[in-house]
Amino acid sequence: MATMLLLTFLISSLIMVTVGLAIDFMEILRLGIDGQLSVDPSDVETASLDFGLLTRGQPLAVLHPVSAQDIARVVKAAYGSNQGMTVSARGHGHSINGQAQTTNGVVIQMSGWKGGNKPPRPHVWAEERYVDVWGGELWIDVLKSTLEYGLAPKSWTDYLYLSVGGTLSNAGISGQAFNHGPQISNVYELDVVTGKGEVLTCSEDENTELFHAVLGGLGQFGIITRARISLEPAPNMVRWIRVLYSNFSAFTSDQEHLISLHAEPSNQKFDYVEGFVIVAEGLINNWRSSLFSPQNPVKISTLFPTSGVLYCLEIAKNYHESTAQTIDQEVEFLLKKLNFISTSVFTTDLLYVDFLDRVHMAEMKLRSKGLWEVPHPWLNLFIPSSKIAEFDKGVFKGILGNKTSGPILIYPMNKNKWDHRSSVVTPDEGLFYLVALLRSALDSGEETQSLEYLNNQNRQILRYCDEAGIKVKRYLPHYTTQQEWMDHFGNKWDRFYEMKMEFDPRHILASGQRIFTPTF
Ligand code: FAD
Repeated sequence: MATMLLLTFLISSLIMVTVGLAIDFMEILRLGIDGQLSVDPSDVETASLDFGLLTRGQPLAVLHPVSAQDIARVVKAAYGSNQGMTVSARGHGHSINGQAQTTNGVVIQMSGWKGGNKPPRPHVWAEERYVDVWGGELWIDVLKSTLEYGLAPKSWTDYLYLSVGGTLSNAGISGQAFNHGPQISNVYELDVVTGKGEVLTCSEDENTELFHAVLGGLGQFGIITRARISLEPAPNMVRWIRVLYSNFSAFTSDQEHLISLHAEPSNQKFDYVEGFVIVAEGLINNWRSSLFSPQNPVKISTLFPTSGVLYCLEIAKNYHESTAQTIDQEVEFLLKKLNFISTSVFTTDLLYVDFLDRVHMAEMKLRSKGLWEVPHPWLNLFIPSSKIAEFDKGVFKGILGNKTSGPILIYPMNKNKWDHRSSVVTPDEGLFYLVALLRSALDSGEETQSLEYLNNQNRQILRYCDEAGIKVKRYLPHYTTQQEWMDHFGNKWDRFYEMKMEFDPRHILASGQRIFTPTF
C-alpha cells in the first residue's frame, strides 16, 4: 500500500513537473528500482547546489541508487528518450561550478543513502592489497574500512569528505602525488554505467579505452559504480612539519629536491610534500595554518620580507610506533639539506587518521562561525615548473596585493607519475606545480572579500598567465564554450571527443560540465 502511494505521488509530482518527461520517468518506475527516486523538495534543493554556491541547477528528480542496475535503468530510459533528458552523478557535491548539476533530468545521488536498502559497503581484499568500493563512498569511509585490516590507500586528497567517483573524475591530488601519483594512478579496475546504460567492467586488460577515458574524464563517459583501489600497510603516526622561507627560489628548489627523492627507499624521503603562500593578511584568514599556535603569528610577522610574502613548506613523514626511535634521525637528515629560515620549524606528531582528516577539523571551526557555506570562487592551476618564478612575481607578489581571502596552496608533482592515457590534462613539462587559490567570498562589506572582486582577480590572473606565455592547465576546470574545452584538452581533444561518441553518444551524462550539449 505504502509503495503504491509512493508511486502515485511520484508519478503525479513528475507529471506536474512536465507532462512530456513524466512519460520517461513512468517508464523508469515500471522497470523497478531498488533505491529511491525522489522529488522531495529537500533532495531536489540539495542536488541543485554545490560547495561553490556560485550556480544553481534544479533537477526534475533525484535517484538514491543502491546498485549499478538502478543507475543503468535510469540512464537507459534517458538514452531511449527523445527529449534531451540528462543524468548527472553527484558524489558529495563539492564541485565549484555546478559540475554535478542538471536542469533537465535526474541527479544520481551517489553518496549517502536513504531508506532501507544501501549500496554495497567497501570490501577489503587484504592479501591482494586492494579494496572494492561503491562509487559514492566517501574517502573518509574508505579509510575507516581499510584501517580495520591495517591497510590504507596510498594517494589522497587534502579533504576526505569527497566521493571516490568525484575525485577519480578529476584526478585526486595531495602531498603524496609526487610519490604515488594522483588517485587515478592508483586504481586497478572500475565498474561503469555508460551513457547507453550498459554496465561494463574496465581495467588495464578489459575495456581499456573506457578505463583510461573515465579516469580524469569529468564524468563524461560513464558513472563509476565500483572502484578497486590499491592499498599499502597503514602507518599509525605522522610527523608533520612546517618550515618558512622568504626566498621563493629557495622554497621551490627545496620542494623540487624533495620530490626528486620519490624513487629512494622510504626512510630517505618524506611521504608528503606540499606548501602554501602566506601573504600578510593571510595569516589571519588562512584555515590551513592551524598548526601555528596563536602567539606564533606575532613571531612570524617579524620574518616578513619587504615583498610581504612568506612561503611555507609543509612536509610529513609516516611512521609506526615500533619505528619511532629512527624517525628523529630520518627527519633531521632530510631537513639538513633544506634552506628554510632556521628559526621557523613547527613540528607536531599525530595519528595518521588525524593527519589525513586535518581539513575536516578546520571545516568544523569554519562551520561554527558560519564561514563554510559561503561562495567559493576557487581557482586551481597546474603551472609548468619553468614558469613558477614568473607566476610568483606576477601573482603572489603582484596581483594579489597582500590579500588572499583563503589559503593558497603550492606544490610540485612529477609528471611521470601521471598516466598519459587518462583524460586529465597537465602541462607539457616533467615537473609542474599545483597552485590552488581556495578563497571564500564574504559579505563583510570589505571590497577585497566580495565575490565580484575575487572573480575579477581570478580573471586577471588567467589573463596575466596568457599574456606572459605561462601555459597553465586548469585543474577542476570550468569553461562555458566548447572552443575553450578544445583549447583546454589540446591534443587530447580528438580522443576525448571520440570516446564521448562511443560511450555517451547522446551526451546524457554530466552535462553540468558544459562540454557537450545533450542531443534530441
Ligand atoms: P561532485 O561535485 O559531486 O561531482 C564532481 C563531478 O564528478 C561531476 O561532474 C559529477 O557528475 C562527477 N561524478 C561524481 N560522482 C561520479 C561517479 N561516481 N562517476 C562518474 N562521475 C561522477 N581535489 C583534489 O584533487 N585534492 C584536494 O585536496 C581537494 N580538496 C578539496 C577540499 C574541499 C573542501 C573541496 C570542496 C574540494 C576539494 N577538492 C580536492 C576537489 C574535489 O576533488 C572535486 O571537487 C571532486 O569532484 C569532489 O568530489 P564530489 O564527490 O563532491 O564530486
